[in-house]
Amino acid sequence: MLKEQEINLVSLVDRFHDEDACRKYMEELRWPDGAKCPRCGSDKLSRIKKRSQFDCDSCRYQFSVTAGTIFHDTHLPLWKWFLAVYLIVESKKGVSANQLKRTIGVSYKTAWYLSHRIRAALKEVDAQLLKGIVEVDETFVGGEVEGKGRGYKGNKTVVVGAMQRGGNICLQVVRGTDRETLHGFIRQNTAGDTEAIYTDEWPAYRGIADEDTKHEAVKHRDKEWSRGDVHTNSIENVWSLLKRSIVGSYHQVSAKHLDAYLDELEFRFNNRENPYMFRDALCKLLVANNLPYAKLIADS
Ligand SMILES: [Zn+2]
Repeated sequence: MLKEQEINLVSLVDRFHDEDACRKYMEELRWPDGAKCPRCGSDKLSRIKKRSQFDCDSCRYQFSVTAGTIFHDTHLPLWKWFLAVYLIVESKKGVSANQLKRTIGVSYKTAWYLSHRIRAALKEVDAQLLKGIVEVDETFVGGEVEGKGRGYKGNKTVVVGAMQRGGNICLQVVRGTDRETLHGFIRQNTAGDTEAIYTDEWPAYRGIADEDTKHEAVKHRDKEWSRGDVHTNSIENVWSLLKRSIVGSYHQVSAKHLDAYLDELEFRFNNRENPYMFRDALCKLLVANNLPYAKLIADS
């Protein structure tokens, strides 16, 4: 494989300005040990140059590097996919479908569908459990209803989040802020021997401690924001990032699609120090399941 280089917008456009360059890169990512037939696994292949395809000498299957991937049959040039992936993973606050539409020159519908497919592919499937010191907090996302005041939560969606100090985050839409939901979220996403869970004083968090995990709460109501190293500032910074990206880039996010936006934010945040984020995102897209348009727009 080529020595990996860090990508910026200039080198991206320079390096992947045509289909052949994109295909060649995808071949390296998909088959680091050389191309194999997706049908029979044979590596005895002939290259059909002019159609950028392979012909399997064993089973005669003809395929290209996009066969069986979400890139196949999209009628969208690979370089536009590459650019969209880059813009989505490299912009701190994300990219709206409208912005994507203008930047890569596609219809709104194409941009919208494209960003959803990229987002779905970035979703972490077997995320590592958080450990050490973990901050947990919940927030409400959604517009205000006229005449109801800022405190009204009837049309808001609850998001709960956890962040390992100095490490990864995990965000999820949940049905409420009750004890069962919050405890369930914490148990599912943190290691059994997590050193400490830090939260605010919300009563539903009580009882989350056990013999090897302590629980400390700051009393926001009494204007206590930190007590020694006990605070929830890191996860609260994630909430402000989330809210800035919703206000700044997406304007409004339906409750239905909020989980997908959270996955995208999670990927970006958890790869914030990864210089090969673009490459790693492409690798995830290469193995992602397709997300049919009909499923995306279905009601539930
Ligand atoms: Zn074959």
